Order: sequence, then structure tokens, then C-alpha cells
Amino acid sequence: MAPGSPGTGRGAHWPTGASRIVGVMGDPIAHSLSPQLHNAAFDAMGVDWVSVAFPVPAGRGADALGAMRALGIAGLSVTMPHKGDACAAVDEMSDVARRLGAVNCVTRRGEVLVGDSTDGAGLLESLRRACGFDPGGRRCLVVGAGGAARAVVLALADAGASEVVVVNRTSERARQAAALAGGVGRVGSAADVGEAELVVQATSVGMARPGGEGGADGAGGALPVDAAGLHGGQVVVDLVYHPLRTPLLRVAAERGAQAVSGLGMLVHQAARALEIWTGEAVPVEAMWAAAERLTAPSP
Ligand code: NAP
Repeated sequence: MAPGSPGTGRGAHWPTGASRIVGVMGDPIAHSLSPQLHNAAFDAMGVDWVSVAFPVPAGRGADALGAMRALGIAGLSVTMPHKGDACAAVDEMSDVARRLGAVNCVTRRGEVLVGDSTDGAGLLESLRRACGFDPGGRRCLVVGAGGAARAVVLALADAGASEVVVVNRTSERARQAAALAGGVGRVGSAADVGEAELVVQATSVGMARPGGEGGADGAGGALPVDAAGLHGGQVVVDLVYHPLRTPLLRVAAERGAQAVSGLGMLVHQAARALEIWTGEAVPVEAMWAAAERLTAPSP
């Protein structure tokens, strides 16, 4: 149903004083797709909820989260640079958020703030949807050891991967990330790529700068994964979704691998957050349609 349609509670004068508010906070935040993904779901659900973006500078994350109580905000997605600080600002944490030491989703239950991490579940769901991939018993390799990579490593191990190899520029961070996978985790090198059934690119390499072109080389210039190791039968995911078709995904597809965009993780982690906040089934298809519309290359 279109925004503002009669019957959704979202008429011409929406949002109203009765609209429930959720959102995303971070810095920078103006380019975030999250409010539009959330609002597409609310439209389809026909509920009087609205999602907005809050620009919150570094160091003010705890203040912003505390204000959820006074302002009656039902839920906030938390992104850079607040995922670590959010742990200290919430009253309770899910098991996954506690093990990661990171929160990307905060829910207000009365006066109590509950922190969760939905990135890993978002990746697993996007893999299921894109190609029916189940990590159970499979050899997985994660490139990167930052917040996104850590969430992926933990989710793959919890889903029963037989091995989770972490390859990262900074070896100490690789070691810490691999430790999240317990007995199936280890630090690896580029040479391990060929043996992996799933390769997840979780560095910021290949990411276009907000508002700029620059997508081909992103943070570092070179491909973050040794392309020579990629082959048919593998699934290759790039968590970078701007641009949608990264240099890595192009090479992976050329070499016969199944290339999966990071847009799916974005959509499914957002859907999981909405499920937690509303307690209702979320129309993921409506969110996918919005995501594809918002990221379609301009003609
Ligand atoms: P982060 O915590 O800052 O971690 C950045 C990672 O990238 C680190 O492993 C870092 O290595 C590596 N890196 C940065 N520049 C590099 C370079 N030039 N060469 C090699 N490695 C480099 O960031 P994050 O939050 O994990 O995010 C990582 C990427 O995932 C970003 O592009 C983000 O947009 C994307 N992401 C996507 C989703 C989604 O839903 N699709 C969700 C979250 C994040 P060092 O440890 O050596 O510094």
C-alpha cells in the first residue's frame, strides 16, 4: 500500500501525535537506507509507525540512547561510530550482542533498553534467500575483522560451519575475530580462499564514498580477496553494497562463483530489527522492493 493511503492510519496529515517512532542513529547518517526500508515495511503492514535518521556525533551515543526513554522512541538501529558504546548504554543485552561486545539494535521495553545484534542473522537469511546456502558443515572464509566481520564469524560458527577462517590486514584483530568461532575458527591467509565454500568480504574495500564516485577502489585500491582463488561452486558475498556490483562480485561471477550482494544483509538485519520492535511478522518483500528501487543505477 502506498504511503499515506487511506486505511493505513497514514493519511495526508501523517505522521501524527500518535505515530510510533523508531529510527537509525549514526554519523554520517544522511545516506542511510534504513529509514526508507523501515517505512516501506510499515506502509505494507498498515501500521502508524515512522522511522527517521538521527545524526548523532561520536561521544553522544549514550545520551541519544538514554533519550529513548524520555522521548518514547520504540527502537533504534545503531551504526558507526556507536556500536561499541551502545553496549554500555543499554540495560540488557542479547546473548549474541554480549558475545560480540557490540549492539546494532536497541529496543525500549518501558524504561528498559535492550541491545541486540542483528547483522549475523541478516547475513544468514540473505544467503538462504539468494542461493539456499546453509553454513552447516561448510568451510567458510571471512575477509576482515571489524564489527561486521565479527558478527559474521560468530553467526557462521553458531550455524554449524565446519571451519571459519579469518583473513585480515591487522593480524591481532584477525586473531580476536577468529576466537569468536571457538574451535572451528582460525587465522588464515589469501591462500585459503580456494578451499572455502563461502567467502565473505567484510572490509570496507570497494565501498564508494557517500555522494562520490570512487566505488572502484574504495578504501584501499586492490581487491581485498585473491581473485585467482575464486572458482565455480563457491558462494562469494561482498558486504559492501554501494556500489551494488563491486569489483569483487564482478570477478567472482566471471570465475563462475555465485556472487551475492551485501544488500541482502542490510535488508534482512533491518527486517529482524522491525520484528523485535513491533513483535509482528515483517513484509520482507516490501523492504526488498524498496532496497532495489533505492539502489537501482540511475538511467
Ligand atoms: P570496521 O569495523 O571499521 O572494519 C573495517 C575492516 O576493513 C577491518 O577489517 C579493516 O582492517 C579492513 N580494512 C579497511 N581498509 C582496508 C584496506 N585498505 N585494506 C585491507 N583491509 C582494510 O567496519 P565494519 O563496520 O566492519 O564494516 C565493514 C564493511 O562492511 C563496510 O563497507 C560496511 O559498509 C559494510 N557493512 C555492510 C553491512 C550490510 O548490511 N551489508 C553491515 C555492516 C557493515 P584492519 O583491521 O586491518 O584495520
